[in-house]
Amino acid sequence: MMYPHIPLYIDGEFIEKGGREEKEILNPFDNTILGTMTCVNKADLDNALESAERAFKTWKKTSPLIRSEILRKFAQLARERTEEIGRNITLDQGKPLREAIGEVTICSEHAEWHAEECRRIYGRVIPARSENVEQIVLREPIGVCLAFSPWNFPFNQAIRKVSAAIAAGCTMILKGSSDTPSAVLAIAQLFHDAGLPKGVLNIVWGNSDFISDYLIKSPIIKKISFTGSTPVGKKLAALASLHMKPSTMELGGHAPVIICEDANIQQAVDTLVGYKFRNAGQVCISPTRFYIHDSVYKTVVEKMAEKIKSIQVGNGLDAQSHMGPLAQEKRVIEMLKLVDDAKRKGATVNMGGISLEGKGNFFAPTLISDLTNEMNFMNDEPFGPIIGAMPFHDLEQVIVEANRLQFGLASYAFTTSSKNAHFISRELEAGMVSINHIGLAVAETPFGGIKDSGFGSEGGIETFDGYLTTKFITKLN
Ligand code: NAD
Repeated sequence: MMYPHIPLYIDGEFIEKGGREEKEILNPFDNTILGTMTCVNKADLDNALESAERAFKTWKKTSPLIRSEILRKFAQLARERTEEIGRNITLDQGKPLREAIGEVTICSEHAEWHAEECRRIYGRVIPARSENVEQIVLREPIGVCLAFSPWNFPFNQAIRKVSAAIAAGCTMILKGSSDTPSAVLAIAQLFHDAGLPKGVLNIVWGNSDFISDYLIKSPIIKKISFTGSTPVGKKLAALASLHMKPSTMELGGHAPVIICEDANIQQAVDTLVGYKFRNAGQVCISPTRFYIHDSVYKTVVEKMAEKIKSIQVGNGLDAQSHMGPLAQEKRVIEMLKLVDDAKRKGATVNMGGISLEGKGNFFAPTLISDLTNEMNFMNDEPFGPIIGAMPFHDLEQVIVEANRLQFGLASYAFTTSSKNAHFISRELEAGMVSINHIGLAVAETPFGGIKDSGFGSEGGIETFDGYLTTKFITKLN
């Protein structure tokens, strides 16, 4: 089975080459060239805008039952093609095949959740002050949306946006990640085969600055959704607000984990270490800053180090690999810089801390401890396979520590005390708090951050908030 050539998808057509710029796609396992993609030009962007605008005129009036049916068909086809889509994700992104297949399965659930929820987009009737006046509130699709999805969960992060827009009656232009495009191409193909009318979804690739600048300014675009880093999110949100366009921003995180003295230590270690190295830690909700009560600090650090020893790093296509390469070479360099800085400032490297031999972007699963706030690791999002551990004594004080950064996406705590659990969950400044287990990012629950981690939710019943407008109608009969 070959890695596919990556075309554009505009107005229901897959568009190949035609003299356009081509970009190479690398396999992070060995940095060999997997294939090429066709990059968009200005005329293509104009076509995508026109197509999405034209399609919106009819799609916004399409019954939710029809939208629901297409989303369900998408989910069914995705399940049938899981192996092939998963394999291509492993090739261009690097994660183990088992994880890639899991990602595709979860995406089918996202599509089905939106298929169900779009039948429940209700307005309301407000009692009027006069008996012959009728007052109603309608929720209407916002229009043509523009979305940017990242490379870490190329299928999952894209399908949340696409499902919400399509289910709400909007149309969309999506720019997927140019490093990991196969999943977004698969989304286009699946919707194409599921009978989505042309123009409802358009996919483009190419220079991010050019595409975002051109499209955000266009009066056709009515809403922006971005998942990626905080600096890029701030730039795009500023541009969107300059043009009076609402946006949803799913940005970076640096998730604190508080392990209390009364926690079930073995359960906490098993849960967290297993979760931490999923997707080689390239996860915005990945637990990163481990605050461990000083009475159990040494034990937890030793147990985590022991568990990390069993993690097999290798080619994502090998069934025995628990962790694959990082998605890009630059991420390995970032990991080395963080570890070196921490080491220089007095941290202990308990496990890993080095890049691994070979042509690929491999970095060892890493545990560094005895960290202080002067170290870059405790301030900058690592977005990679590093656990950083720091002891604490006082629960109130560690909450201040956890809230110290401008990030506010995910947070975690392990404790058997319901008083501690209540206190922690109320005091942590985060969009999501998970206590004693990892329970985030399923289709029926809201996913999103606060502070510099962004705004707006994807998933849960909040999923449509960013894709609908509110219209008040008052009528004298
Ligand atoms: P980056 O800041 O270079 O890019 C982040 C993302 O934004 C990429 O997907 C990139 O293609 C996109 N992008 C860059 N400029 C853009 C523009 N002008 N318009 C539209 N999109 C643009 O970071 P990176 O090195 O690719 O990734 C590492 C950082 O990204 C991490 O620190 C992490 O915070 C963040 N990230 C977050 C998520 C998430 O799920 N929230 C996902 C992937 C990456």
